[in-house]
Amino acid sequence: MTQTMATDFEARTAESALMYVDGQWMPARSGASFPTFDPSTGRRIADVPRADGTDVDAAVRAAADIAVEWQFTDAITRATLLRRLAVLVTENAEELARIEAIDSGHYLAKARELVGALPMWLEYWAGAADKVGGRTIEVPGNKLSLTLLEPLGVTAHIVPWNYPLLILVRSVAPALALGNTCVVKPAEDTSLSALKFAELVHAAGFPDGVFNVVTGYGTEAGAALAAHPEVRGITFTGSTETGREIARLGGQHIAQVNLELGGKSPLVVFRDAPLDDAVEVAVQGFCSRAGQVCVAGSRLFLHEDIADEFLEKLVARLRTATVGDPFDERTKIGPLASQKHYDRVREYIDIGKQEATLLYGGGVPPDVDNSGYFVEPTVFVDVAKDARIAREEIFGPVAAVMRWSTTDELIETINDSEYGLFAVLWCQDITAALDTAKRLQVGSVMINDWFGELPMTPHGGHKQSGVGREEGLEAVPGYTQIKHIGINLDRSPAQATDWAGAPL
Ligand code: NAD
Repeated sequence: MTQTMATDFEARTAESALMYVDGQWMPARSGASFPTFDPSTGRRIADVPRADGTDVDAAVRAAADIAVEWQFTDAITRATLLRRLAVLVTENAEELARIEAIDSGHYLAKARELVGALPMWLEYWAGAADKVGGRTIEVPGNKLSLTLLEPLGVTAHIVPWNYPLLILVRSVAPALALGNTCVVKPAEDTSLSALKFAELVHAAGFPDGVFNVVTGYGTEAGAALAAHPEVRGITFTGSTETGREIARLGGQHIAQVNLELGGKSPLVVFRDAPLDDAVEVAVQGFCSRAGQVCVAGSRLFLHEDIADEFLEKLVARLRTATVGDPFDERTKIGPLASQKHYDRVREYIDIGKQEATLLYGGGVPPDVDNSGYFVEPTVFVDVAKDARIAREEIFGPVAAVMRWSTTDELIETINDSEYGLFAVLWCQDITAALDTAKRLQVGSVMINDWFGELPMTPHGGHKQSGVGREEGLEAVPGYTQIKHIGINLDRSPAQATDWAGAPL
């Protein structure tokens, strides 16, 4: 069928894909593999190597062996390679987008948009490579004191399935630019685009071992990677539950751990908001990527004066949101990424039917392939603030609507959450919006806008939504460590002093 990849990559991976370790393509040493499926049909696309601890060890050792050479490769050379990679991503954008669509269920137009944006991340970090550094520090006496910003060494990148390429690139680009060597573990449901990306890294001319991809299960390959003592930094994006385990594994060998975790983000509509715009952003907020977005606006807070009118417009708008085949140009909402996740979202919809009132959706969309993992956009109203659908991350196209009247009550309800990733405020009164933004316990607030991420703006969570930051120069500490150098400039023979400067 036309939606198949129909590319060299597909022909090569039709039987079984290979992993990329130390510049070589290889199966798992055990010979084991597992299937990856097209979520819009349930059909098997390819078998992917099932790496275990031995494979992970080989990848980490390859990365460790070249770590010093890569650290001392000058920043301009590292930047040049990243820029070459950006060009190759652009040249291969259509194939990358098709792989992403077929393996993860992104609808094709969205996959093209996302892949089209990736060079921005590579170029941003190529630009930063020779611009970030240490500082000089004023100290007493005729001395010089300075810091060097050094790479960590081998960094592990454990990636989820919802934005397989974007999340890979957003952490690998700074890691490589700042002199680290990388081992990537894509999600088991969506390994193929990472493997295609590895081909491009190879073609760009990065030295063998600088970038490696091991495919496999989280509890096997992922855990072995996080626990590997030669991994000096871990960037994990995924669920809060797995994030806790990664922090534990990384803690055993004191790796620097960056966690980008889940959310239950509010989208707040104020009384003065232009309602048509607010409806549009609400639909984007909880339906984009079929709701499988960490920053999804899954809690909709409507000011009581406009709530009824808003909901009427929302229902009318949802009737035009076509769910279906990612390769059909009319599609705006694709399938969920796997059978397992589909079952989970359906379970939450059943819980919602008991806890609240179903306003829209809740079923299987019309005219879809019944073997695919499709869910109708679903809206629940009359949701109590302690309902499970108001508190837990569903990660599907499901919105829990709550009404509000006073700002204090609104802020208290929003902040009464274990998560603190993101919030969107739709509001004309900028003073009210800024006052609310200042009081919310979240990592990012968008006012009259909804964009998840850009390479130059920091992204990350408060509370159980994570620690550390991706993107922007705020991400630099996650991929570097500091070395302090002190120099005595006196011509007289150097004299050791204690901490207060007195001779020992
Ligand atoms: P997940 O935690 O199940 O898996 C993420 C990755 O971790 C996968 O590669 C998986 O194989 C691996 N993994 C699983 N168990 C592991 C273990 N014990 N040790 C090591 N690795 C392990 O998450 P998911 O279901 O793939 O992704 C959805 C979650 O990701 C949601 O909670 C979402 O909010 C979150 N997310 C957060 C951001 C962000 O930037 N904050 C972005 C996207 C997704």
